[in-house]
Amino acid sequence: MNNPNDPEITSWLPVGPDSDFPIQNIPFGIVKTKNGGPRVASRIGNFAIDLLRVSELGFFSDFDIPKKVFDNLYLNDFISLGQETTRNIRARISELFSEQSKKWNSREMSAHIAIPIDEVEVLLPVRVGDYTDFYSSIEHATNVGSLFRDPENALLPNWRHLPVGYHGRASSIVVSGTDIIRPAGQTMPAGADKPQYSPTKLLDFELEIGFVVGKENGLGHPVPVSQAEDYIFGLCLFNDWSARDIQKWEYVPLGPFLGKNFASTVSPWIVTLDALATFRVEGPVQEPEVLPYLKTNGKHNFDIHLEVEIETLNGHVQSVCQSNFKYMYWNMAQQIAHHTVNGCNLRVGDMGASGTISGPKPGSFGSMLEISWRGTKPVDMPDGSQRKFINDGDSVVLKGFAKSGDLRIGFGEARGKILPALTNNLS
Ligand code: MN
Repeated sequence: MNNPNDPEITSWLPVGPDSDFPIQNIPFGIVKTKNGGPRVASRIGNFAIDLLRVSELGFFSDFDIPKKVFDNLYLNDFISLGQETTRNIRARISELFSEQSKKWNSREMSAHIAIPIDEVEVLLPVRVGDYTDFYSSIEHATNVGSLFRDPENALLPNWRHLPVGYHGRASSIVVSGTDIIRPAGQTMPAGADKPQYSPTKLLDFELEIGFVVGKENGLGHPVPVSQAEDYIFGLCLFNDWSARDIQKWEYVPLGPFLGKNFASTVSPWIVTLDALATFRVEGPVQEPEVLPYLKTNGKHNFDIHLEVEIETLNGHVQSVCQSNFKYMYWNMAQQIAHHTVNGCNLRVGDMGASGTISGPKPGSFGSMLEISWRGTKPVDMPDGSQRKFINDGDSVVLKGFAKSGDLRIGFGEARGKILPALTNNLS
């Protein structure tokens, strides 16, 4: 087997220099073809790689995988094959599409296995059983603590001792391109003496990275932090849409509920940690020292550039945030170790999300709450309008890629357009 990360490999499929999907990436997802059902796929350049067809043509025959694993609405069965097998498949795809490897007659089959990306429908990649959102950026937690509570005590006493999280809602996780209806709910407007019901006035995004769980620990069995990354199949972009006015009124004392659970948008291609190996970096120094079950050494953060754009209905685009996944205070291994330290069982396809990824400077804040500093610093849009939060008709687009020399490993985008609230009379 070759090393699929080798930067010298080129594909016989065309790949542009700024593509997020060179042959070194080989992410996994689910696509639906024009004349066929949903199936497991990968992506190289602007081609979906139909892994059901690749499998039917016998290119995976030595792995002895049942056809139904690829003939599938979700990646869960594929992920459940285990890291050794999915690693072998990634390496085999690299060989099949490499210009340098002459081992296979895959090029003659290109019309059957490589489909232009605009000829397929890209679907939600995993059936998400459970979803947990963390709160692991110290810059974000400090900003939000200042805005919602008290700048003098922005971080609560537990924050530096454990990766704070809450259980989110899996059913409303949707794939990039899905429209989002503006949620309505109960809020307590400033100065009012009783709550009101209305569409949210403070609709926000949260720039996050999600991880997909690739292995089960079993109820009662904590995952040691040193092994925790083995439980991650891969990463995606994650927009944790948030209604700040609903959130502010409801969140005491049990945390986020309807302000968050109406929708989360994910990018469709799950990028493996293997593909991101080149981009590992050390995280920030953790002070005070964390308990032994959370202690990590070495490179457990990832240098991934992140950007958020707001696109208006008439096509004007404004970049509002440039951040980086490397800023995270708590890394994913620590999040998994903490999540399971009480014996909680993770299952294949579960998702965890990082929490809003804000950097140290204003241009790197990962939510409109912080960017507009709660509406006091509106953002100028190219058409002359301003944004404090997200308007109806706006699309929010998350992008992310890692880059070193000529090698670029990216995620594509997580896009969602806001539709007006439904005006049904609910009483
Ligand atoms: Mn969040």
